[in-house]
This record gives sequence, structure tokens and C-alpha cells, in this order.
Amino acid sequence: MRKVNCMYKYTLHKKSTKHTCPKCGKKRFVLYIDNETGQYLSEKVGRCDREINCGYHHPPKQYFQNNGETYNYIINDANKLAIENLETSYHSDSDLDSSLNNYDKNQFIKFLTSKIDKVKVQKMITDYRIGTADFWNNGTIFWQIDKNNQIRGGKIIIYSTDGKRTKYINWVHSYLMKNKKVDNFNLKQCLFGEHLLSKYSKPIAIVESEKTACIMSMLFDKFLWLATGSLSGLSLSKIESLKDRKIILYPDLGIKKQNLSPFIKWKEKSIEYQKKGFDILVSNLLEQKCSQSDRKKGLDIADYFLENLNIKPRKIESKSNSNLLKMYMKNKNIKTLVEVFELTNSSGRRIKID
Ligand SMILES: [Zn+2]
Repeated sequence: MRKVNCMYKYTLHKKSTKHTCPKCGKKRFVLYIDNETGQYLSEKVGRCDREINCGYHHPPKQYFQNNGETYNYIINDANKLAIENLETSYHSDSDLDSSLNNYDKNQFIKFLTSKIDKVKVQKMITDYRIGTADFWNNGTIFWQIDKNNQIRGGKIIIYSTDGKRTKYINWVHSYLMKNKKVDNFNLKQCLFGEHLLSKYSKPIAIVESEKTACIMSMLFDKFLWLATGSLSGLSLSKIESLKDRKIILYPDLGIKKQNLSPFIKWKEKSIEYQKKGFDILVSNLLEQKCSQSDRKKGLDIADYFLENLNIKPRKIESKSNSNLLKMYMKNKNIKTLVEVFELTNSSGRRIKID
């Protein structure tokens, strides 16, 4: 699906090549695209993304006024439907296969091999099919491969030597379009790791970032770890393929702004999905364990595990533990809870699920 506010006929074509700004002359001008035809309205109708230093904006409305034409900015329903049903684009196998190398230049993989056993890292690379963008600063490519093994997209992220992501993000299809290797690409994202659903029948754990999913797959392999790509990336269409699985959400930490912490946002969604028949829970692990400084840093579960990597977690046998096991024998719905019981922190305290 082309990413548009489907109602509007003209939207800024954010993922495309930048054009020369009529005002400042810099190649930072984003053109308006006609979402019905997929064509630019005009080379002069757009907005300069140098917001502070230029900010030139020539909107479609003005363009039509200048030409004395009627400005229809809403797409009629029939066309709207056509756009929503626009065929999903896929990458070729060779796009992916050709990226499966250069790990010695891949900052994310280099960071992982400095922390975690090489055999585990190799297995993770093979499972998730992590690539290196030798055409774009050797960034790490997180391929989104769906349950039918079709390649929906490749998100490229550049990491620094300490394993932290930089602000530099790109997509393989954007690169291909920019270099005129493909004309058009309708990105329809799926969960990162979705192709592993048929390989592993484990309960599903969903996190925000691809990096977290990769790391947790090595540190806690009782779950199959999938990623939404962003906080807002958790959607019904993406989890549709998980209908019969047990799902636990692990939101990142965040500062509460008007009660909208990542935890609360995902909690609300989980309640909505439960009503639709999903077996889904939200972990409050980080919410309970975190310090104020962790929260400010926006720590995620992988950060938490990496920090405790050299402290051996020990399994606890408490009375409440064995009681829960008994309950499990009677009620299978508690299975997920019991499985999470092995998640203990360094002092052996158990981790609760909300
Ligand atoms: Zn400009």
C-alpha cells in the first residue's frame, strides 16, 4: 500500500528523491504526488524540507488557484479503494541474497560479536537474514519477510560502535528508486521476523525495535521474538497472522506524557486485541524494574538483559511458583505465565506479567 492519508488526493511524497528547491536552490524540495495517478502534480509544487533555513512551500491549492482550476483534494471512494488495494511490492531474492555478507563491516554485528557467543550471533543472522548495505554506509539491513516468504521491505539502520542506533535510516527500495533500478514500490510492512512463524512454534514476544528482537532471540530463546519497527507499528493487520499463538508484548520504557507511555499505549492495544480473540498480554517487567534514569534513556528489554549478561539468573522455586504450576495443569491459559517464570532478575525475583 502506498503510504498516504488515503483520503487526500495530493500528499508530500516523502520517500522519494529530493528535488531542487525553487527558492534556495538546494536539493531538498519534496514534491506533492497525486495519489490517484502516482504522478507528481508539478515540479514546482512541493515543500522545502530545510524547515528553518528556507521552508518554501507551494501547495496544490495555490497551484490550482493560479491556474484558475478547481481544486479537488479528496479522492472519491472508488479510487480510494483502489489505492488501498494497490498491490504490495516485493523485493527479489537476489536483492536479499546479495546483502548477506560484509559482516566484518557491519557495526551492529560487530557490536554483537563483542558481547555474545559467535555461534549464537551466526544463528541469529541466519534466522532473521540480517544483511549489510554495502551500497549505503554498510548499514544493517533488517529484511521484513512475511509468512509466505515474500520480501516486503528492507530497513537500513546505521549503528555506532557502541551498538546504539544513529539517526540514519533508509530503505532498500528507496535506494533502488533513487538509482532508477525500480520505478515504483508499494511498501506494505509486516512484522520483522514473521517468516519464522512456521519454523518455531514457541510463544511470540513482540518488541519495538528489530535490534531488540535480534538480541533477545539470542539471550532468551524460549520465545520467538518479532518487532513492529516502531511504537506505532503495532497494528491489527500486522498481528493477524498470530491469531492462534500466545503473544506477549514487551514495550520499551518511556517518559509518561499525558499518560501515553509505550507501556500504556500497548496495554490499550492489547485490550482491544483480546476482545478480538487474540491471546495477548503486556509485560510490565521493565515498568517494575526500571529506575528513573533507565526510563529517561528509554531502555528496552535487550538493554536490560545485556546489562545483566554476566550475572547468571537463577531459577526460583517458591510456593507461589508451584501453586501456579498446579493451576497450569488445570488451566492451559496460564501457560504463558508459567513460561515467563524463568525470566528472573539477578536477585532471583520473578518477573510478573500484567
Ligand atoms: Zn528551499
